[in-house]
Amino acid sequence: RAKDSGRGRICTFTADMNLKVVERMRLLSRARLAFDRQAFTVHYQPQVATRDGRVRGFEALVRWTDQELGPVSPDRFIPVCEDSGLIVPLGLWVLETACIEAAGLACRGAGDVTMSVNMSAVQLAQHDFVPRVLEILARTGLPANRLELEITESQMIGSLDAAIGKLNALRKAGIHIALDDFGTGYSSLTYLRTLPINTLKLDKAFIDDVHRRPDARSMVSSISRIAHDLRHSVVAEGVEEAAQWEVLSLMGCDLIQGYFVSRPLPADRIDAFLAAWEDRRAGLPVIRDDVV
Ligand code: C2E
Ligand code: MG
Ligand code: MG
Ligand code: MG
Repeated sequence: RAKDSGRGRICTFTADMNLKVVERMRLLSRARLAFDRQAFTVHYQPQVATRDGRVRGFEALVRWTDQELGPVSPDRFIPVCEDSGLIVPLGLWVLETACIEAAGLACRGAGDVTMSVNMSAVQLAQHDFVPRVLEILARTGLPANRLELEITESQMIGSLDAAIGKLNALRKAGIHIALDDFGTGYSSLTYLRTLPINTLKLDKAFIDDVHRRPDARSMVSSISRIAHDLRHSVVAEGVEEAAQWEVLSLMGCDLIQGYFVSRPLPADRIDAFLAAWEDRRAGLPVIRDDVV
């Protein structure tokens, strides 16, 4: 019996592997087609300051609904695009689209918001990464200090010096750098000290229990204090409830991002969101008008 189940396991394992390869190949060929047909879109999720409840920026998030596969999550297709190199043109397209959107927002009276765009390790590793980013800023007319690039610490493994050199060049041009998904990797605190960043984004995993568990709360307040000592601002990701906002605000998190404020929105719903948010702002749980 043991032998049977053992053999069964091996068969399943092999079949799974084949399925994964086939699945990834299909995903990649559909993604290539979608890119050529301009079927990707970008949605924008607001980031709000705890201090006064004002919208300080948006994060650009790529979206894809395939004709055959239906909606595909970035968590599924980004890795495939990274392995194949498709992320390089796709990432530049997302960056340019988001910069155009941000420049347009400025013309419509929301001139002081920042646009945050996720960067893949594969993009950062390109030799011409920095000039390509600067070229897009010049072409779209977005001031450099309105752009923030989000990177993750897992991207730094293997090429830390090269990455730091590029990040420094981007910062020198005025672009902001955010460390995304902070707390999910292995050597977070070392990276926090080493990387030239402006912003630290606390991963949703820390935020989920922050209003229920004292241990989650002490993690967030300690990390926030370290980040502030290093003169980084702190963004809480994945905030879904008013109670989380309240706790995070009292603990000194600078910005809140999450479904509590808004889901990521298509570009044509940003103006309506901004108008509606002005009404909601007044009723927020805690508005700090001083800096703690
Ligand atoms: P991320 O950069 O950490 O983005 C935050 C993710 O959390 C987004 O998922 C967002 O929709 C989701 N989220 C925001 N607020 C909440 C909330 O309150 N509750 C919950 N449950 N989720 C929330 P999304 O859009 O599916 O993106 C997943 C990941 O894919 C991103 O994580 C990012 O790593 C990657 N990604 C998305 N767009 C791009 C892109 O243009 N380029 C690259 N390289 N990666 C991207
Ligand atoms: Mg991000
Ligand atoms: Mg994140
Ligand atoms: Mg993430």
